Amino acid sequence: MKKILNYINGELIEPKSGQYLDNYNPAIGKVYSLIPDSDASDVQQAQEAAQAAFPAWSVTPKDERSRILMKLADLIDANLDELAKAESVDNGKPVSLAKSVDIPRAASNFRFYATAVVQYSTHAHEMEDTAINYTLRQPIGVAGCISPWNLPLYLFSWKIAPAIASGNCVVAKPSEVTPMTAYLLSKLCIEAGLPKGVLNIVHGLGPKVGQAITEHPDIPMISFTGGTVTGKHIASIAAPMFKKLSLELGGKNPNIIFADCDFEKALSTTVHSSFANQGQICLCGSRIFVERPIYEKFKTAFVEKVKRMKVGNPADDTTKMGAVVSKSHMEKVLSYVELAKEEGGAVLTGGNQAHIEGECADGWFIEPTIIEGLSFDCRTNQEEIFGPVVTIMPFDTEEEVLMMANSTKYGLASTVWTENLKKAHRMARNLDVGIVWVNCWLLRDLRTPFGGAKQSGVGREGGFEALEFFTEPKNVCIKY
Ligand code: NAP
Repeated sequence: MKKILNYINGELIEPKSGQYLDNYNPAIGKVYSLIPDSDASDVQQAQEAAQAAFPAWSVTPKDERSRILMKLADLIDANLDELAKAESVDNGKPVSLAKSVDIPRAASNFRFYATAVVQYSTHAHEMEDTAINYTLRQPIGVAGCISPWNLPLYLFSWKIAPAIASGNCVVAKPSEVTPMTAYLLSKLCIEAGLPKGVLNIVHGLGPKVGQAITEHPDIPMISFTGGTVTGKHIASIAAPMFKKLSLELGGKNPNIIFADCDFEKALSTTVHSSFANQGQICLCGSRIFVERPIYEKFKTAFVEKVKRMKVGNPADDTTKMGAVVSKSHMEKVLSYVELAKEEGGAVLTGGNQAHIEGECADGWFIEPTIIEGLSFDCRTNQEEIFGPVVTIMPFDTEEEVLMMANSTKYGLASTVWTENLKKAHRMARNLDVGIVWVNCWLLRDLRTPFGGAKQSGVGREGGFEALEFFTEPKNVCIKY
């Protein structure tokens, strides 16, 4: 059986314990590879390699760092088919999605930060004829990067690229549930000529490897994407150690559809924003609020379209929804459907495990599910489900929908559908979220700040924000 290896000090190596974990293909429900069951001793080895590489890498000219990251991006493009297939097998997502979104975006992440780092400039503040202040931005040392399973290579590279572009070295942990493309990336790093120790990838369980990274006294910054509960746990360890922290956490995003919207665009995008990647994108809209005059019309058309979505083998190009990531996640998502029924919800379509014929007969699939009739403040409408389950509710006024949209502890993203520009601006100002999409969804300009308000996160990724997270500002004041 294929074995994944750690990538430490430029080499692909076994975990010190010699122990491995099973890695499942969720579409067929079977183990297909083995993952290092690493522990604190592997993290220690990775940290030492990163620390040793830091003095040289931090003073490597930006142009040279940029050249290597560009090469890595080119290698990702050149290996698109292999990487997309691996992502699909590991995660259950349709291969067509991995090929059009996940893998191209991983290449873009490296390319973006390869160019951003050479464009970035700092500020100067002059005190008339007294003095000049200028800001130095210096890399800090070893960064800990911990990422989730839903967009494996996409989110892993979104952290690593700015960290190493700005001159830090990295100890990274991909999700143990989807480690394969991070392993393939480590091979590409070797091929791209990334100096040894600049990036170290330690595979294994969150409570062992992730915990060891978080607790390590010589890893002074942690960039984490994952669930809010894990984020809170990480913050409780990192904050008293005065580590820099970037937390990208969960969401319960409202999708607000006004009667004056472009109906067809709102409808087709809502199908996508509800069920793309089996609803396992932190930005998916899971609470759909529709203004009452078009509620029945929208609901009927939405249910009809969703019923036609093809759930099937992720390897098949015509599949719209693949498997969810694991058996335990499938059970968690389906338990929310039961909760919704207990809370008085009516399932308009879906609600069950989907059974696929052929080689996927034992896979973990869920029918796309729409639930109606719930109050905005019930648990189903307040807790993150992170699967192909959405609720739909009518509203009458802007004030009412804002109150309902803002009622959760989360504040990641929102969509607003209206042709009225003033209303769009008003809604954007009043939504308690980090990202508002008006008449679109998941349209991303990598220069923009990315992240959430309230319990959806702390800090922002994206653009120069990430370069600022991974560097320490130092003010230098020179008297004239
Ligand atoms: P998770 O369980 O919080 O895991 C995220 C990462 O943290 C994984 O690598 C995990 O390792 C690791 N981890 C677990 N316990 C840890 C510990 N004690 N110390 C350090 N690291 C630990 O989240 P997930 O289930 O993978 O991902 C789904 C969540 O991510 C959802 O809530 C979703 O909204 C959120 N998300 C947010 C964004 C955003 O940008 N805001 C983007 C994508 C996803 P193992 O997997 O090996 O346990």
